[in-house]
Amino acid sequence: LEQIDALSVKSFPLCMRQLHRALRDSHHLRHGGRMQYGLFLKGIGLTLEQALEFWKKEFIRGKVDADKFDKGYAYSIRHSYGKEGKRTDYTPYSCMKIIMSNPPSQGDYHGCPFRHSDPELLKQKLQSYKIPPSGITQILELVKGMHYQLACQKYFEFTHDVDDIGFSLNHPNQYFTESQKLLS
Ligand code: SF4
Repeated sequence: LEQIDALSVKSFPLCMRQLHRALRDSHHLRHGGRMQYGLFLKGIGLTLEQALEFWKKEFIRGKVDADKFDKGYAYSIRHSYGKEGKRTDYTPYSCMKIIMSNPPSQGDYHGCPFRHSDPELLKQKLQSYKIPPSGITQILELVKGMHYQLACQKYFEFTHDVDDIGFSLNHPNQYFTESQKLLS
């Protein structure tokens, strides 16, 4: 868990950083968040056993007891790893899917913050993550022009201190892999 805390700050795109923070703060995520974040974690290499441990540890700190977790939530985690039901091995969501489908409602933390956050809140978040003012202006301009993935690329450039990331971003897991490449 602590390792994921550190990774979420260094190498997660904003959408996943937001989901991780919400999970750690409220010890819960609603279905849309669990799917988006759970599949991302699967994509970065969490095994089924690690995923079960990760979610359980956090959920039982909140309102869910171990028994309820094992009976309810564990099933859907195994399901997303292709171990239940139709045994479909689900793949992590792309940016396009996150941006275009299932918009978050009140109390949800999934979605793409560049697309779904109120611009003022997005600005505050970027400030708290130490993006310089010129960077925030550029990001918000891209958001205004509905270039959400380009805004995310800019965020990558500022958080990794590179001028040009040299790839076109279309998947949160790609963001993570590229970040890890740069940092390793
Ligand atoms: Fe996540 Fe993609 Fe949005 Fe970036 S552009 S925050 S990776 S959904």
